[in-house]
Amino acid sequence: MKHDWRSAIRRLIFNLALAFIVGWSLDILAYTLMLTLGLYLAWHLRQLHKLQQWLTSRDTEEPPTSHGLWGSIFDDVYRLQRRQEKSKNKLKAMLKRVQDSTAALKDGVLMVDSNGNLEWWNHAANTLLGLQNSKDIGQAITNLVRHPDFKAYFDKTHYDAPLEITSPINNDAILQFHITLFGRKDRLIVCRDISHLHQLEAMRQDFVANASHELRTPLTVISGYLETFIEYKETLPARWGRALQQMHEQSQRMQNLINDLLVLSRLETNHGQESSQVAIKPLLSALVNDAQSLSADKHHSIHLSCEEFDLLGIETELSSAFGNLIFNAVKYTPENGEIHVRWWQDTSGLHLEVKDNGLGIDPKHIPRLTERFYRADPSRHSDTGGTGLGLAIVKHTLLRHEGHLHISSQLGKGSCFTCHFPVSRKVTQPQLSQVL
Ligand code: ADP
Repeated sequence: MKHDWRSAIRRLIFNLALAFIVGWSLDILAYTLMLTLGLYLAWHLRQLHKLQQWLTSRDTEEPPTSHGLWGSIFDDVYRLQRRQEKSKNKLKAMLKRVQDSTAALKDGVLMVDSNGNLEWWNHAANTLLGLQNSKDIGQAITNLVRHPDFKAYFDKTHYDAPLEITSPINNDAILQFHITLFGRKDRLIVCRDISHLHQLEAMRQDFVANASHELRTPLTVISGYLETFIEYKETLPARWGRALQQMHEQSQRMQNLINDLLVLSRLETNHGQESSQVAIKPLLSALVNDAQSLSADKHHSIHLSCEEFDLLGIETELSSAFGNLIFNAVKYTPENGEIHVRWWQDTSGLHLEVKDNGLGIDPKHIPRLTERFYRADPSRHSDTGGTGLGLAIVKHTLLRHEGHLHISSQLGKGSCFTCHFPVSRKVTQPQLSQVL
């Protein structure tokens, strides 16, 4: 290009020199110079015109022919065009591949703009949500998936957990939605049919509930007979005494296990139960009294501090959850230990804390403590007779009350279990029975 530029200047100087010589010799210097410059200008205008025509016309791909500076300008523009065309084709092919692969997915994938309108979706979304390509593009997604839970989920800005709702086109199907924010508040929605997982889960819950229920009667009979035998153990051979006692203890343990399994399956399946005002103070006082009896000759000092407000919830479930925490504190705190039970409120919500100065838990176990049958230290469990289901019951109960459990503990120093509830569950007005 630099070379062409120099030769263009050289050619101009040469032409002007020629015009100068001819004009000088014929005494028409001004005319020849003007004519030369005029021709020079006309030639450049012609090249510009050619360039403009080539750039605007779509029929001819090849650049117009020219020489010198203009020739190399045409060639450079042509080269740039080819390069751009190539990367455009590459991007198109890539986009097509992405679209083809998402179209082949069994999960529905939808792209929604920052105003909540549908921009693009794959074929599976048509089947799962009953969308129609021609009609629904540009429509608000919340008008197409009409469900109050979906609307509330969509309007959130943090999507940590997925949402599960019944399909808008098939009441028997359960769909799971997961939203990811990208760009300027655009959303990518992935939706999948999880009906078969739900069926499996329901089958598992039914099986556990039925098996526990069926085991209950034979076990009651066995422990009933065992109790009778123990009552009359003086009449039986002496070596049977210890065996009968152990059989009775184990049957009691199995009964506890079955009761806990039934409580858990009730928590998992019973979704429609109404919440009501639960008077926390009397509930905790009763549990603390039971804990005193459980503590018996271990002489724990158990302290209760309770603020005067109630909780909106299900009394039986709360009593079993709080009881599990308080009785655990008794079970896992050695003789003469201290246990503090506290019910209070602050700006972050309502809280129940059960704190002890007992055995404590190694922090590595804490994240898994609420799993069913998980035990921090299996050797402890044999003398406490626990089922390993207590904290799972607490976790499920809190989930049903919009709450969560926080555990902090230090091995050998003690543990603190705190149940947190939202302020919206606070009830301050007196109970109807008290007013009457
Ligand atoms: P378990 O019936 O074995 O007590 P839980 O689900 O109630 O089952 O508790 C799970 C485990 O957590 C227990 O086995 C025990 O190791 C530990 N744990 C629970 N509460 C306490 C506590 N207050 N102090 C120390 N360890 C505890």
